[in-house]
Amino acid sequence: MKFDILTLFPDMVRAVLSESIIGRAISSGILTVTVHNIRDYSEDKHRRVDDTPYGGGFGMLMAAPPVYRCWEAVTGGKKPANGKTIYLSPQGKVLTQKKAEELSWLDSLILLCGHYEGIDDRVIEEVVDEEISVGDFILTGGELPACLLVDCVGRLVNGVLSDPECHEIESISCGMLEYPQYTRPPVFHGKEVPDVLQSGNHAEIERWRYLAAVERTKKKRPDLL
Ligand code: SAM
Repeated sequence: MKFDILTLFPDMVRAVLSESIIGRAISSGILTVTVHNIRDYSEDKHRRVDDTPYGGGFGMLMAAPPVYRCWEAVTGGKKPANGKTIYLSPQGKVLTQKKAEELSWLDSLILLCGHYEGIDDRVIEEVVDEEISVGDFILTGGELPACLLVDCVGRLVNGVLSDPECHEIESISCGMLEYPQYTRPPVFHGKEVPDVLQSGNHAEIERWRYLAAVERTKKKRPDLL
């Protein structure tokens, strides 16, 4: 799957996505992530990309022309057939696992990151298919939300996780929270790993895990049940 990230702060995005599982998926070519600096598309001699908003008000707004030219350079000016342009925005629908699964079936995503007071609305209207928020709070820019989206969509792409079953049994994906898990040592600060998990009886382990998952979901996220 291919991701193009349009941003004023490319190093911020590269730093996050070069690490761990997503970093390895990029190195091995399962995911392709290209980061584009919107500032490279400014025609201003000082490479300015922002200006004051019409009608007054606080802060600076990212201007439409450099954002459009950057998007045009990535797409050739045409919306991709099996892809979407997403603006990371607090005004979008809040990201869910279901949405991530839906997006993971696409061939490509173009992720537009705003900064400052956001982006001139006319270019959003023209190029954006969908706005996605990462939660009801305000960040300084769309870079961290874009990384978050690449992470949660990317890990669903075939080959990114070693075992495809991994994401099916994970919290939320399976409709509940995951059961508690333990690794060595068998006793930590006087707390013992439940005997059943050390018994080797797979049917009993499955049963224990199911009941523990229901119990935990009731306690921490009853809204899921
Ligand atoms: N003035 C804008 C508004 O009230 O809708 C908010 C601008 S915010 C300070 C700057 C940028 O951060 C936005 O353009 C967006 O790309 C990003 N951003 C901030 N909060 C976000 C969130 N919860 N989800 C996704 N992106 C967010």
